[in-house]
Amino acid sequence: MTARPSTGRRALVTGGSRGIGAAIARRLAADGHAVIVNYRSDGDAAAAVVAAIEDAGGEAVAAQFDVADADATGTAIAALLQDPRPIAILVNNAGIARDAAFPAMTAEQWHAVLRTTLDGFFHVTQPLVMPMVQRKWGRIVNLSSVSATRGNRGQANYAAAKAGILGATKTLAIELAKRKITVNAVAPGLIETEMIAGVPEFVFDMIPMKRAGTADEVASLVGFLCSEDASYITGQVIGVDGGFQ
Ligand code: NAD
Repeated sequence: MTARPSTGRRALVTGGSRGIGAAIARRLAADGHAVIVNYRSDGDAAAAVVAAIEDAGGEAVAAQFDVADADATGTAIAALLQDPRPIAILVNNAGIARDAAFPAMTAEQWHAVLRTTLDGFFHVTQPLVMPMVQRKWGRIVNLSSVSATRGNRGQANYAAAKAGILGATKTLAIELAKRKITVNAVAPGLIETEMIAGVPEFVFDMIPMKRAGTADEVASLVGFLCSEDASYITGQVIGVDGGFQ
């Protein structure tokens, strides 16, 4: 995909070094945004995403921080905000799964998922909202999941965290609507990434389209939600799930 002319806006994608986040980073860069590819530990993968974006004529940089770590995230975002170009687009994509049947779920499994998804959302989003309010333009897209609304065996922690993201999305959408900042959630079904490695075959049979989605199919929706064309869409939860929901 050859990049469109620059929009002058920067877009931060958390967990952007692989899977859905990497596809979103490529898509936003192709749409002309300068992308910040956040990663937690795999610097080589993040560098590869940046290189692919640059090869296609886009602009990107990698930024290491763990969204679950309040101090590290605060410091990294403060440094990113030194650049005069606004971070006008935020995609909260970083997420983990630590599945277990609920009676066997450990406190560590429970808290690890909530720390990354819910605390991570707070750590990253809060320092970026005020600059968006001041500039009266912004796009926030949060990755939720069909598990949030349907529930999913073995995912009480993940479903609770992803449902929490929906409440935060709807509330922020109301709070920020007057400032031309939209806040939406995308709820993927089963998407071909490392996160779904090991999912048994019969699950695909439960999907009306009889296949997993691709990361690019999720990224297309995120790209649209981050565009000018989506200016009157806020507080929504939009599925990308082949009819699964
Ligand atoms: P993935 O595991 O391939 O990628 C997740 C990314 O988030 C990784 O790059 C990981 O390093 C990063 N990450 C995790 N914890 C982090 C942290 N503390 N700080 C910074 N980065 C961190 O998963 P994916 O399938 O690409 O999922 C992307 C998002 O979509 C996640 O929020 C996930 O819950 C959601 N989702 C995925 C599916 C699916 O079927 N793959 C379905 C529904 C929702």
